[in-house]
Amino acid sequence: MTDFSAKTALVIGGSRGIGAAIVRRLAAGGAAVTFSYAGAAEAAQALAAETGGKAVRSDAADRDAVIDLVAEAGPLDILVVNAGVLVLGDPLEQDADAVDRMLDVNIRAPYHAAVEAARRMPDNGRIIFIGSTNGDRIPFAGGAAYALTKSAIQGLTRGLARDFGARGITVNAVQPGPTDTDMNPGDGPMKDFMHTFMAIKRHARPEEIAGMVAYLAGPEAGVVTGALHTIDGGFGA
Ligand code: NDP
Repeated sequence: MTDFSAKTALVIGGSRGIGAAIVRRLAAGGAAVTFSYAGAAEAAQALAAETGGKAVRSDAADRDAVIDLVAEAGPLDILVVNAGVLVLGDPLEQDADAVDRMLDVNIRAPYHAAVEAARRMPDNGRIIFIGSTNGDRIPFAGGAAYALTKSAIQGLTRGLARDFGARGITVNAVQPGPTDTDMNPGDGPMKDFMHTFMAIKRHARPEEIAGMVAYLAGPEAGVVTGALHTIDGGFGA
């Protein structure tokens, strides 16, 4: 277990799924963890009680709210931007407002959160985005807008690694494949279809994704930066 004692962390989108597993992992290592959520107040309060973390309601689609959240939680040693939404469908039929909201949550929030965090982050801080294997590969129809958001995370990761590297701040993306959460249940109707693309034909557990985040947030990953860390059971192999 990596030691995160004396570290201050913020997980944007931490109430459920992968984000909640990250909150648990950082808190178990001794970090002082703040996490945000948009709607799942009950889950957020339960997680705060369980981990000793601090839950803050803050909509990642709202740029000013994102910037305020980061400023108030800092100075941060560790920023994890996990909040994400998945809107699939025929681009000719999709609700343009829903697509734009996804762009706000999945692209704008990571950008503004990272920049705000870097203003006061000490040297050797950690910025970690949760992207997706779909940033590399979208092997079915209906995922263009979602794939766009996760490909954007790749460019953001590479660029910010250059911007903040002189201060020892690392910037990385973790790219999960199918992971058992409310967004993509391991026993859901898409399960068998998704497993056809995978070498290891099962959904990941959120804790497995959190393990990779913990490595990147920890002291052994000091020269790991500008990189995309895919953990997808071979979905993109
Ligand atoms: P879930 O839908 O299970 O959980 C999403 C989390 O993000 C919740 O805590 C939710 O909070 C929070 N969130 C969503 N929208 C907002 C918002 N506007 N403001 C603040 N918080 C928000 O998703 P997953 O855990 O599955 O996904 C987490 C990340 O991993 C996402 O970026 C997703 O794209 C990515 N991912 C997931 C994969 C999977 O198979 N599950 C595969 C590849 C990538 P609240 O409950 O309050 O809404």
